[in-house]
Amino acid sequence: MCGIVGFIGERKAAPILFEGLERLEYRGYDSAGIAVLNKDVITTRKTTERIKMLREITENGQGIPGSLGIGHTRWATHGAPSERNAHPHVSNDGKFAVVHNGIIENYITLKEELIQKGFIFESETDTEVVVHLLANYYKGNLIEAVVKAAKRLEGSYALGIICAHEPDVLVAVRRLSPLILGVGIGESFIASDVTALISHTKTVMYLEDGEIAEIKKSGIRVFDKAGSPVEKSTTEINWNIDAAEKSGYDHFMMKEIMEQPRAVRATLEPRIKNGKIKLDDISITAADLKNVNRIIITACGSASYAGQVGRYVLEELLRIPVEVDLASELRYRNPIINEHTLLIVISQSGETADTIAALKEAKGRGARVLSLVNVVGSTIAKMSDDVLYTWAGPEIAVATTKGYSTQLALLYLFGVYAAELLGNRTGEECAEMITELQNLPEQIEQALILNDNIITLAQKYHKNQSIFFIGRNIDYAVSMEGSLKLKEISYIHSEAYAAGELKHGTISLIDNDRLVIALACYERLFDKLMSNIKEVKARGAKVLATAIVGNTKILTEADDVMYIPRTNPLFLASVEVIPLQLLAYYVARDNGCDIDKPRNLAKSVTVE
Ligand code: GLU
Repeated sequence: MCGIVGFIGERKAAPILFEGLERLEYRGYDSAGIAVLNKDVITTRKTTERIKMLREITENGQGIPGSLGIGHTRWATHGAPSERNAHPHVSNDGKFAVVHNGIIENYITLKEELIQKGFIFESETDTEVVVHLLANYYKGNLIEAVVKAAKRLEGSYALGIICAHEPDVLVAVRRLSPLILGVGIGESFIASDVTALISHTKTVMYLEDGEIAEIKKSGIRVFDKAGSPVEKSTTEINWNIDAAEKSGYDHFMMKEIMEQPRAVRATLEPRIKNGKIKLDDISITAADLKNVNRIIITACGSASYAGQVGRYVLEELLRIPVEVDLASELRYRNPIINEHTLLIVISQSGETADTIAALKEAKGRGARVLSLVNVVGSTIAKMSDDVLYTWAGPEIAVATTKGYSTQLALLYLFGVYAAELLGNRTGEECAEMITELQNLPEQIEQALILNDNIITLAQKYHKNQSIFFIGRNIDYAVSMEGSLKLKEISYIHSEAYAAGELKHGTISLIDNDRLVIALACYERLFDKLMSNIKEVKARGAKVLATAIVGNTKILTEADDVMYIPRTNPLFLASVEVIPLQLLAYYVARDNGCDIDKPRNLAKSVTVE
């Protein structure tokens, strides 16, 4: 989720590692560390403060000699942010050190096995199993040990490995997490992000899934997962640092929009095993759920709109009344909450002040609290009875995209899981929904590809001063997020309306050339929505619609259409939000707005 750097050459490693880690600081992290090998001794230094602190405690790296090392900035997924949990992790004999990005999904099984064998665990991380596995398999050849260890690892990983028995080699291996090799003259680098190595070399090699690199001063050899050599070629990077930070995109927001298939996969995949949802991290039982007669979802901003989608999904699956209550309202409302209430709290940062206060209020009245957050060990995570982490990695753009998408993914997972526990859906029905959930990342990807016409649509519509979004059911819930996205970054006034509500007053606002964005993907109510589209068209509005691929009927009324692939209607929001995010982005760009840092807004609202 966060940052890796590694170096081997003639120069001192530590200052190079610090520089690389500093280049990754913009991504955010909760702790950091380095390990350097000198002769046959590995020295580590860690901090929960900034990289500057690592510089201070090592005399700018001069205090740690050695020309081979690895460094890490951590974004905790397993185990709270602390010095003990910070990487690199070192084997019990001090001979191996590892940095890791990603999640080892089967770490509990591996940990039990390794404890049986006598290995002692120093941290709460999933990562630590890797270093003990390596020590366990090492029989005089590091690459062989890595091949064997990698075979045992499930989940996602980019790993940087050093070993005191082999002081002339740095090893890298990856699966589903990025890792790049930098080729210098008489020196080589590894990094999770080109930003960390671009000041030293622009010649890079991309490691593919499952590949293992043996990096020496004299050169790099790459092996496949069975240990057989692979031919690799190098690529020249022509980005500058600024573009590299954004992976070549103009803004973090676009980078994060594009990261959504991966982020949603990272949230879903570890929790689906053999066609079943396993929410090991929560302790809610069937009896607990049977005791619940009301669910309240509380959140602020986009998280509350994820909650609006959650309301439709959970009511459908659980047949328990669900309401969405803005945290800033709930906290002061003398709400009717008791021990039969399940409070679902949603917050990217886990530090949103209003949400924390609402949580306290509800907990004080006996509610059971399940929170969905992105930051491990955050205040909301600590205060909740159960936590599900979104594992979206750090989000930098103020306007959320992958944060929202991963919150949706968790709401679906919880919904299907709870539906089976309650006996509301058969195992077979759940299995079908689980397969559909597994297809979501790919469908999000397709939605991104299908919508390259949005650049042109934005050019056509970006001058509108006031825009209406309409929809029914889940389309309506998504319209709220679409409207907020547009407001946040383009400063254009927009409102989301339940389409059936228009004629009860707001239709008076529709006049000639007013843009109405009509969300028409919830097919059960498509004909109803078509009537609403006709109503606004009759009053002169221009209609930009969303629709499921293949729907030609929409073209009889809409001026333009943004198509999305077909999904299970319950999970529709994840795909439908994509064109709306893209539209907001391009409209804001055409209006010259500061997309990543919109005026007056902060990423994490820690004040009331
Ligand atoms: N899962 C690992 C941990 O929690 C790695 C986190 C990261 O990618 O930074 O330590």
